Amino acid sequence: MKKKTGQKSREGRITLKADGALRVPNRPIIPYVQGDGTGVDIWPAGQRVMDAAVEKAYGGRRSIEWLRVYAGQEAMDRFGTPLPDETLKAFRFYRVGIKGPLTTPVGGGIRSVNVALRQVLDLYACVRPVYYIPGVPSPVRNPERVNMVIFRENTEDVYAGIEWKKGSADAKKLLRFLNEDMLAGTGKRIRADSGIGVKPVSVRGTQRIVRMAIQHALRERCPSVTLVHKGNIMKYTEGAFQEWGYGLARKEFGGKVVFEDDQAKAATKSKASRLLVKDRIADAMFQQVLLRPEEYSVICTLNLNGDYLSDACAAMVGGLGMAPGGNLGDGLAVFEATHGSAPRYAGQDKVNPSSVILSGVSMLEYMGWHEAGKVIQEALTRTIERRTVTYDLERQMKAEGRKGVKLLRCSEFADAICKNMR
Ligand code: NAD
Repeated sequence: MKKKTGQKSREGRITLKADGALRVPNRPIIPYVQGDGTGVDIWPAGQRVMDAAVEKAYGGRRSIEWLRVYAGQEAMDRFGTPLPDETLKAFRFYRVGIKGPLTTPVGGGIRSVNVALRQVLDLYACVRPVYYIPGVPSPVRNPERVNMVIFRENTEDVYAGIEWKKGSADAKKLLRFLNEDMLAGTGKRIRADSGIGVKPVSVRGTQRIVRMAIQHALRERCPSVTLVHKGNIMKYTEGAFQEWGYGLARKEFGGKVVFEDDQAKAATKSKASRLLVKDRIADAMFQQVLLRPEEYSVICTLNLNGDYLSDACAAMVGGLGMAPGGNLGDGLAVFEATHGSAPRYAGQDKVNPSSVILSGVSMLEYMGWHEAGKVIQEALTRTIERRTVTYDLERQMKAEGRKGVKLLRCSEFADAICKNMR
């Protein structure tokens, strides 16, 4: 790491204003992890595109000073740990960062570097914008109807990592307690040959993600927020998420939101122009996003639902290779490519850098640098519409029978995007 965090670099530091909004200097220092495997290909491509867009949008008035930090296999090789303290300190200190894909090293002592990063920095929201870039091959007929942002709770639910293996002493102890004490007289019994997992869902965890989703919707003038849950079955966890979510919307955003039942009755224009807060049962929601995607704008949901739903929605607009993502906490964010490190393609200058590039767009928007984000989106669209694409898109375009498709390497694709900037 070239620069020591916390010393000479204060002037490039993103800070918080009293109201919690970001104060972004014109030359912010942004820590980045290149990423393992194909990170070596997609990161340089992505960085080049981001720098070119900032230059194009602000003509030298603004620029990013990149600070390299390490995580994953590369950090393991260099420092003997997959998530060095220096990396965590840099993300905390500079507040906004970005990362390529990470290989979870075998024997690294933690289950996943990504999960650890989210937990240690308390990045409690996984935010996945899902929108269609014209020209991208898609399995649905009208992918342009999809324009959503999914807020997935990142710290609770069955992902809390609290589970016991079938037959272990702890599992037996817990089963005894549950069967003989808690379930006595209920007619319910857990089979002795069961593994056990715990699904915690808290008021605090629910409220903060719902708050973030509603704040985003109000700021970006989105028409609705949908709470997605399986509360008909899991009443005290998923059902509670819905109840606490509505409660928070009513209490903290009362004058600015309207609820589905109220909306039907709403006679006045002012009421109808407020943000609509509604909810859907998770299984029905999977149908809804396919059949009536235009009715959904901001989606807020628990960890497991969000994991499934965000990949399913990403598939509708071109798959994970095109999907941006970010992990957000309070005044802290790490954006990331949503796919993995695809080791078998590493170093071949072959894979699609769009996921990390579009995560860069989300990062620029988070920083308030909307003009630069727009430059990238438009240039990427032009590049794909011209059918100059990486192998994954080329294959799909050809399968769809499109003519005149030109295969580019990862770096050439980045060159083409830079050339297509206006
Ligand atoms: P992967 O996403 O790395 O690769 C699966 C397949 O997706 C690849 O074979 C390739 O066909 C395709 N693909 C991936 N990235 C692509 C790109 N940029 N352009 C075009 N096609 C692309 O998933 P995996 O093989 O299951 O995981 C490999 C490693 O990545 C594992 O160590 C896993 O833990 C890690 N991982 C990391 C993240 C993350 O950092 N966010 C996410 C998922 C997996």
